[in-house]
Amino acid sequence: MELKVRLKQKADYSYSIVLGKNLFKKIAADLKNKPIANKYVIITDSNVKNIYGIDLLKTLRANNIEAQLIYFKAGEQSKNSKIKEQIENEMFKLLLGRDSAILALGGGVTGDLAGFIASTFLRGIPYIQIPTTLLAMVDSSIGGKTGINTGYGKNLIGTFYQPKKVYIDINMLSTLPESEFLNGLAEVIKHSIIKDKPLFKYLEKNREKILKKDKKALQYIIKISCEIKSSIVEKDETESNYRRILNFGHTFGHAIEKTSNYQVKHGFAVAQGMIYAAKLSKTNEKTKERIIKLIESYGLIKNIKLDKKMILHAMLQDKKTIKGKVNFVLINEIGKPYITNKIKTQQIEAVL
Ligand code: ADP
Ligand code: ZN
Repeated sequence: MELKVRLKQKADYSYSIVLGKNLFKKIAADLKNKPIANKYVIITDSNVKNIYGIDLLKTLRANNIEAQLIYFKAGEQSKNSKIKEQIENEMFKLLLGRDSAILALGGGVTGDLAGFIASTFLRGIPYIQIPTTLLAMVDSSIGGKTGINTGYGKNLIGTFYQPKKVYIDINMLSTLPESEFLNGLAEVIKHSIIKDKPLFKYLEKNREKILKKDKKALQYIIKISCEIKSSIVEKDETESNYRRILNFGHTFGHAIEKTSNYQVKHGFAVAQGMIYAAKLSKTNEKTKERIIKLIESYGLIKNIKLDKKMILHAMLQDKKTIKGKVNFVLINEIGKPYITNKIKTQQIEAVL
């Protein structure tokens, strides 16, 4: 005999992204009015704990919300299974159960790690993203990708697990170091190249304002970026096809990160990767020059000596490379991407 397990019905996992300033009071009020759990645990890193974590904890408690805080040592090195287990054990010690939710307060490292914990803790508890770096605000906090690194590579273990809400507080960018700010700007530039020519033009015209962290300019580029990222994720949540356009500059970028032994930060590697991708693209010379000029004008290109052979080798080993065919996201024009696996090794070597 045979029995069927019917699992067709899909729940609605929609969530909203709140963009504003000084949001802790709003977060507390929202959790008071519409709780998503009985107890909350803020997961954050050792830097963000001091700058914002304790404040958030106090605000929640002042509103009679049961809250705890767990932190880990800041840095990409903490995004691993050992730290994940340590945090989970601390959660058990604090008697956090199924009726708990996680508030992921921090950059991409915190969001990925805390989101992954949320997805597996007691088979899954809700979580909220409160990104504090530009990279996390415009990219990693939206779309539900969670995960950790292993000795074999970055983000190799993880889940798709959507947050219940995302709170983006642009005032938090005031304390962010310059290099971290630029790291996130690379993803904003990427969004403009794959999807939004007006944003590209805005980035060309408003460089000084943006680099000075002018609030209006930041609000604008973050809002557009979130719209682009969420509209792509809406169409293809699990990256079966369309979502891959978000990998513009990333095939090269990942290889550069790896070849530099992760000394080159993600955004800077992607920036260099976007220049290579532009050069490989069908688009006209003028557009290529515009892209290169924009990326350089934001100080995203560092003169680092990289071994071209090693970059090529790393690309062939990428988790997204299938049967030796490297997948590239390229552009016909700004805002018009296409995906191809027909690029020959000689063509790649020629642009490196
Ligand atoms: P990313 O967001 O690029 O993935 P991280 O999560 O590691 O990277 O954050 C980068 C660094 O910036 C970390 O050392 C983190 O503690 C620090 N950081 C995060 N947000 C802020 C902030 N708003 N102000 C100051 N430092 C911050
Ligand atoms: Zn990226």
